[in-house]
Amino acid sequence: MPDVSLRAPLPTQDALRDARPLLWINPQRLRNAPATSLPVAFAQARARLERCAPLMAHVFPELQAAQGHVRSPLQPIPALQASLGASQGLWMLKRDDALPVAGSIKARGGFHEVLSLAEDLAAQAGLLGPDDDRLRLLSPEAQKLFARHTVVVGSTGNLGMSIGLIARGLGFRAIVHMSADAKEWKKTRLRDAGVEVIEHSGDYASAVQAGRRVAEGDPDSYFVDDEHSAALFYGYAVAAIELQQQLADAGRPVDATHPLFVYLPCGVGGAPGGITFGLTQLFGEHVHCFFAEPVAAPSMLVQLMRGEGAAPVSVYDYGLSNQTEADGLAVAQASPLVAPLMLPMLSGVFTVKDDTLFEDLCGLHRHEQIRVEPSAAAGVRGPLWLRDNEAGRRYLDEQGLAPHMDQATHVIWSTGGARVPESEYARWLTRCQGD
Ligand SMILES: *Cc1c(COP(=O)(O)O)cnc(C)c1O
Repeated sequence: MPDVSLRAPLPTQDALRDARPLLWINPQRLRNAPATSLPVAFAQARARLERCAPLMAHVFPELQAAQGHVRSPLQPIPALQASLGASQGLWMLKRDDALPVAGSIKARGGFHEVLSLAEDLAAQAGLLGPDDDRLRLLSPEAQKLFARHTVVVGSTGNLGMSIGLIARGLGFRAIVHMSADAKEWKKTRLRDAGVEVIEHSGDYASAVQAGRRVAEGDPDSYFVDDEHSAALFYGYAVAAIELQQQLADAGRPVDATHPLFVYLPCGVGGAPGGITFGLTQLFGEHVHCFFAEPVAAPSMLVQLMRGEGAAPVSVYDYGLSNQTEADGLAVAQASPLVAPLMLPMLSGVFTVKDDTLFEDLCGLHRHEQIRVEPSAAAGVRGPLWLRDNEAGRRYLDEQGLAPHMDQATHVIWSTGGARVPESEYARWLTRCQGD
């Protein structure tokens, strides 16, 4: 049994162990200054997605209208905001549920990592110069090269979808190791796209481990490591630049008297962590990022609560089950790459019961005609935690934000849904009748 001591008040620890919803404020967050220039890996990820856009438009016809850019809308959700009795500030939904091709937040990171692999392999083989048009990656020589390589990933579903589709689109062989949480329709979609799906009876971490082991034994295999990947992380971070532009276009300033709050569903931490990293580079202390996790799977929460330098810990160590309908968030142990990066920048973490996920999934359906999957609804209650909870109000007071909440922008990050089959969605909607 590892040391499971926590840096949190006892009532918070009790709520955690009893799987009751809670808000934890991160005492180690620093008042970060915005970066004067983007960190190299971040700027490189943006440049890669930029120069590969014409290639993407070629590979995926549905991206043609957006010239190959993988972007999602940012939209106000006034009816849902009113239905939850929130009158202060403006609630907006970042629609990664509608991201093209992959239909989830996994698109940017996953596409970025496989594009990076394709560029590297082609460059090493002398088929691509630094300034060459990336459409060269579709040349017969490059395609022959990629067909000899296999991209392997372990996933609860959505990462497999993102990686599988881009890998096949670029001509690689693709193998996705899926955990028991993965939904049947996701496996079918992948097989239809020519991806090999290997099913495992264990959880997310065991599917990842199985993929890692298979790929290790094969020099022509490339393993996308969701628990350690910097290429995923920086690909996700690029979404922060997209959001910055959208806020400017919408006339929403971000500064000391116009705070920006962002609520991000968290599984292993790569996607919400990359976005938090990107936003902190751009907005410094004026952005306040919170992660949302299921009460049964608060992997990032238990890791961050133990503070700096803590050994890896899992939700099983706290007697929690990791069982949730939010399959995208069913992760027992946080990414050891991302958790330490979040300590100086994340504002806090709140947890959500599955019943609440379905209520909010239904609320988005009823009030905004927006279709999301359960994981994607996890962030909806974020603004209410800050308004109604003692720890939340104390955070606003300590940050000097309480007088400015009328001018606040609350961005609720919606993370998946576009590719969900009608029958599955209809089944979810039955969970909210009668409220
Ligand atoms: C993967 C996923 C997340 C969380 O991303 P992590 O990188 O695992 O933290 C959130 N929502 C959905 C729908 C996802 O598929």
